[in-house]
Amino acid sequence: MSRVTPLFELQQVDSNIDRHNINIANIETTLLDKTTLEAARQAVSDVETLLRNTRTKLKDLEFETQTVEKHASDLEKKLYEGLIKGVKEMKAAQSEIDTFRKRRAELEDSSVEAMLEVEEVEKSLEVVRQKLATVENEREKSLIPLTQELTKLKKELGELQLAREKQVRKITPSDLPLYEKLRSQKQGVAVAELLMGKICGKCRVDIPLSKQRDLKSPIVIITCPSCGRILYLP
Ligand SMILES: [Zn+2]
Repeated sequence: MSRVTPLFELQQVDSNIDRHNINIANIETTLLDKTTLEAARQAVSDVETLLRNTRTKLKDLEFETQTVEKHASDLEKKLYEGLIKGVKEMKAAQSEIDTFRKRRAELEDSSVEAMLEVEEVEKSLEVVRQKLATVENEREKSLIPLTQELTKLKKELGELQLAREKQVRKITPSDLPLYEKLRSQKQGVAVAELLMGKICGKCRVDIPLSKQRDLKSPIVIITCPSCGRILYLP
């Protein structure tokens, strides 16, 4: 076995560990992301507030209508019972009654508008509540497979870490620092497989003949002249 073989095998384990870490991070991000859920909840809360305000407005209008009508009726009663004396006073009372009645008619129109508004907002509330239920339901459904996948990946990661420890023991200790240095500098890939006996499997550069020859020796470490990675002859 060449000196590079255990390094290549370690590289495979490490790449697998890297993939697992990326997948785990992605799933955890998805699980933590509640943006859609929170937006749907906020929409319900906003429409609920709007509905409360619209209902209050309607109630106020109804109350004011009753008050104005009572004023008009009281005055009318006084007038018919002869409690208001004098032509001038009676005219003034009648004019006040007319003003109250006019105001009541205006208030009734506003009440009708407010009633329609309440109905509209009630419909909107139904829509946003339905949307929230859908979002919650979909989230619930997607969480189960994601959580299962996460558990599986974490278990596999544990196994890979054990495999890595075992693999590290097969490596010539002085080769490890170079391997680790290249891993950190070369996007996690320190060892490149030689393709067709002459091409760097990572940067695709042709390896000079002299290096190709040296690669056949089981005791030396040859690096790619272009990307600097350790070359592995399968
Ligand atoms: Zn290369």
